[in-house]
Amino acid sequence: MIQENLQKILANIPEGVTLLAVSKTKPESDILEAYNYGIRNFGENKVQEMVGKYENLPKDIKWHLIGHLQTNKVKYMASFVSLIHSVDSLNLLETINKEAVKVNRVIPCLLQFHIASEETKFGLSEDEAYALLESDSYKAMKNVEICGVMGMATNTENMDVVRSEFKHLKQIFDNLHEKYFVASTTFKTISMGMSHDYQIAIEEGSTIVRIGSSIFGERNYNV
Ligand SMILES: *Cc1c(COP(=O)(O)O)cnc(C)c1O
Repeated sequence: MIQENLQKILANIPEGVTLLAVSKTKPESDILEAYNYGIRNFGENKVQEMVGKYENLPKDIKWHLIGHLQTNKVKYMASFVSLIHSVDSLNLLETINKEAVKVNRVIPCLLQFHIASEETKFGLSEDEAYALLESDSYKAMKNVEICGVMGMATNTENMDVVRSEFKHLKQIFDNLHEKYFVASTTFKTISMGMSHDYQIAIEEGSTIVRIGSSIFGERNYNV
């Protein structure tokens, strides 16, 4: 089932767009099935769960942290996390930098933006991102690398709303690129699109789609 799902999804994803298989709540056997099909990028939203899976599964898996991240959890994954999608405060970025220093790494990060109309979704506003990027604290950081942006569209059937939110995120990416990252060779990632909206996200410029239920089936509880 998982491999059939992957085959269908991969056929819809153009070259240059990465499929991130969101394996949160799913067993390691499901991850191995996707791994055996060639998938190497997996996304988790709970640090503890990701650490357990990291320890048990093949070491060439790239682990992405996609959920809201508490500062006190950063240390458990600093040595191996491949990309943190959910940086939503200067304080969190400071902690990531501090933990990255301890393990002698530069940790790739995305700034998460609040693009949905729901109050509950985490993320920065564009102004907050400017303040972060202009802060002395950020400018002094040597062990984090901001590689782009991430966002979640409103959970709605109205695909016009979803499309306009993705357009907004792409615009934010372009603004940041022009203002702060024009000389950067690594600021090029737009993480947007999930199971029900990834095709629209790709049309609007996504470079990483985060797909869970369409690969692994519905999750038992809503996380
Ligand atoms: C769970 C989750 C996804 C995957 O959602 P599906 O609808 O199952 O594809 C993508 N992004 C984030 C941030 C998530 O928490």
